[in-house]
Amino acid sequence: MLLNLALKKYFGYDEFRPGQREIIESLLSGKNTLGILPTGTGKSLCYQLPGYLSEGLVVIVSPLIALMEDQVASLQRNGEKRAIALNSQLSQEEKHYLLSRLQQYKFLFLSPEMLQNQKVLEALKRQQVAFVVVDEAHCLSQWGIDFRPEYRLLPRALHGLQDPPVLALTATATAAVAKDIAAELLGGGESIFQYSADRPNIAYFVCQTEEKEIWLEQFLTKQQGSGLIYCVTRSEVEHLYELLKSRFAVAYYHGGLAGDQRRLLQEQFLAGKLRIMIATNAFGMGINKADLRFVVHYQLPDSPENYLQESGRAGRDGEPATAVLLYQQGDEQVHRYFRQKLQEERQGFEYLINEAKNNPHFQKIHQELTPLQQKWLLLASQKEGTQLAAQLVTNEEQKERRLQAMLAYIRTQGCRREYLLSYFGEAEVAIPKRCCDFHESDLYLQNTAESSENSAVGEDKQAHEGWRHTLLKLFKDEIPL
Ligand SMILES: [Zn+2]
Repeated sequence: MLLNLALKKYFGYDEFRPGQREIIESLLSGKNTLGILPTGTGKSLCYQLPGYLSEGLVVIVSPLIALMEDQVASLQRNGEKRAIALNSQLSQEEKHYLLSRLQQYKFLFLSPEMLQNQKVLEALKRQQVAFVVVDEAHCLSQWGIDFRPEYRLLPRALHGLQDPPVLALTATATAAVAKDIAAELLGGGESIFQYSADRPNIAYFVCQTEEKEIWLEQFLTKQQGSGLIYCVTRSEVEHLYELLKSRFAVAYYHGGLAGDQRRLLQEQFLAGKLRIMIATNAFGMGINKADLRFVVHYQLPDSPENYLQESGRAGRDGEPATAVLLYQQGDEQVHRYFRQKLQEERQGFEYLINEAKNNPHFQKIHQELTPLQQKWLLLASQKEGTQLAAQLVTNEEQKERRLQAMLAYIRTQGCRREYLLSYFGEAEVAIPKRCCDFHESDLYLQNTAESSENSAVGEDKQAHEGWRHTLLKLFKDEIPL
């Protein structure tokens, strides 16, 4: 009951959404906790509320600057001034200033890389840390070794902070990923809370076509509302932009743009000045635009995990939305190319390490390593070197399996929703009225005219839960919550 009072006091809500209370209670009891909650169900509240109920600083490890800034802005909208992001956008002086005044803050957001910084760690050690949150924790498993090895170094940093309770949060995790997160980060004895990844208001379609450009132009002409078009490569993003810019209010976004430019585009998109954003998956995490009516994947995503995350950015307001995947034979090659590059980097790393071991005069190893290889070297010094090599190989195999699962999604002769959810271990799937192409749902949404303007509030307003919220309210007494 006390938790309900706190919920009302700090956020003005009467009830918790499914999962929130259980996760908060577990964390407050001092247990390491993993919460798997779908996008748009109030994940942030799971650490914000216990933050208010605990002494000390809440440290939130977040993969992207955009995501941190979004969370800080959301807290500020809620009247919380003691939230700050410590990231690479700050100058040395600003960082120093912030670190010397940590006791003034309640919520500190930073990247896993920043948490490896000795000065940051020292400053944190002087604080009382209430608990540490690892947001988007699937990154640890998916990116942990070949993209952001610092994720794998988190346990060491946490140990340096006297092992405070850890809350790992993610929207999508297979049983294997959940196990990986638990083993790497939570150290056994943790509580895991998993809720359905289903998004009943999103309908799923796959379109196999040799004429993607024509298909896309037609889709964008017929479909109202704003949306995202995802490509895998930057060159494809720019190509599509050139193709569409004369006909639609469109912009493009990828990691190659300058930070200022990216921020400006995000703002314009959020404000509804741009209807369509063409982007690599660098765009999206932390983009709190609730009224996206569609997400089109113009190129094949590399895994069902990423597909569910990216398509899940549609319809966060609970209104009907559409996820389309366009496929042309051979689309998977781009991912195999990336993987081959990574494989070569791994083999080169192994070669250099062996050389260094066998030849005491081999001095140049550090200069010859790529930035990623240097991180591997650091990681290898933390763990057994052989263990790291085995992990890298396993990682390559997992990537191929995920890609195969994505191809099987395209080929499936059954319901798309059932396929995706069964991949995440869900057996019972309720089929909504507008479900997928197998269920012969209509690709185009009707009556979406009202959806473009008034939704700047975003997903963190719980009143925005759409039909589900309304139903629960209407049948409060009949439906067990
Ligand atoms: Zn279906």
